Amino acid sequence: MHEFTIAKEIIMHLNEFKKRQNDLKIIGLNIELGEFTFANEEQIKFWLKELLKDTNKININIKRIKPIVYCNKCGYSGNIKFSADPLYHFLLPDLRCEKCNSKRIDLIKGRECNLKSVKVKKTFNKKKKLL
Ligand SMILES: [Zn+2]
Repeated sequence: MHEFTIAKEIIMHLNEFKKRQNDLKIIGLNIELGEFTFANEEQIKFWLKELLKDTNKININIKRIKPIVYCNKCGYSGNIKFSADPLYHFLLPDLRCEKCNSKRIDLIKGRECNLKSVKVKKTFNKKKKLL
């Protein structure tokens, strides 16, 4: 239920946003997803739509973020090659520096899941109009 957890977290942020902007209708979500989450985009979209129920017309965009590492041995910083094994849902792959093959590397980017932006449309409060 990895994707479900991610979707739930996005909804949490979305609810915070909605509290501050209650005359706006959400029509789109832009999400950044690190490749090292090994999460399935379609499943995230499915859970988001499931959790949002009343707002089925939301356009969901998911942008993949390439992982970036930093090597503590040689100072290399940049992309890293890895294979997408389904096992990595539970376990981080054995990462090695592209330059010196050291295992002392830190993952700087690639495990994030950010709600980057929310597309909104202004709605009119009908009750107010009547007054
Ligand atoms: Zn290195």
